[in-house]
Amino acid sequence: MAARAAPAAYVNFVAILAFFVLHWQLSVYFQSFFHHRYGAHRQFTMSKGWERTMHFLAWFIQGSSYLNPRAYAILHRMHHAYSDTERDPHSPVYQRNFFKMMWRTKAIYEDIKERRVPIEPRFEGGYPEWKLLDETLSTMPLAVGWGVLYSLYYIAFATHWWMFLLLPFHWFLGPVHGAIVNWAGHKLGYRNYESDDNSKNTLVFDVLTMGELFQNNHHKWGQSPNFAVRIFEIDPAYQIIRVLDLLGIVDLSGAQRARWTPRDERATGSLKATIKAKAPLGLATPSPMDGE
Ligand SMILES: [Zn+2]
Ligand SMILES: [Zn+2]
Repeated sequence: MAARAAPAAYVNFVAILAFFVLHWQLSVYFQSFFHHRYGAHRQFTMSKGWERTMHFLAWFIQGSSYLNPRAYAILHRMHHAYSDTERDPHSPVYQRNFFKMMWRTKAIYEDIKERRVPIEPRFEGGYPEWKLLDETLSTMPLAVGWGVLYSLYYIAFATHWWMFLLLPFHWFLGPVHGAIVNWAGHKLGYRNYESDDNSKNTLVFDVLTMGELFQNNHHKWGQSPNFAVRIFEIDPAYQIIRVLDLLGIVDLSGAQRARWTPRDERATGSLKATIKAKAPLGLATPSPMDGE
């Protein structure tokens, strides 16, 4: 009996692990592709039909921790404009305590989402909005419902108590991904570009957060859909976006191209001298959160 029980447990564990990896990767991909690169930065364009399709998929996949695209975009544009200063919504340099940083981010996000605070006009507009998904179908009871669905999968497949250890991550995947990027991306790693902030490139092949951990590159080239600039850097989400471009789902033709030219860097000196504000697509005025 024991000999037969072991493979069964193994199969059940693989089923749970597969669900976890799939949910993690798809959630962080949609946060990066839809909320960040498309919603906050307008690095590429999509037809209204494809935007709605991707909006629905982001809502469906992120489930219990679905992020409101408008609140995400405003919060994130604030991050670029005030990176690693007192006014940055999430800076591990300014806010050294990890949990305090997370709590502050959550409070600012909620205030923006519930429209309780005035927003600087330059951070407004150009992000996808869909009242049905972003408000009507983003309530607490629905989030709990998603959480119950994830739990039912675990109940169906888990054969030992320890197999439930990954379950709580499913409930909070959005904040977990945000925390990893916001903390590690401004604290751990190397820098390709000089800048006033503390942005870092944490991993050279960022499978963990689909390219989001190239923060130093991204703060330099805020409008580029490719977060990798050097020969050894790989941005997985960008590779998927390239395929979507080939399929005609997104349009990369107007996208900014990130460059790695060490000689240029030496010639121009500090990043301050090289930054030129450029308006994101769909926004009326130039803004400092776009990078070069
Ligand atoms: Zn950043
Ligand atoms: Zn950004």
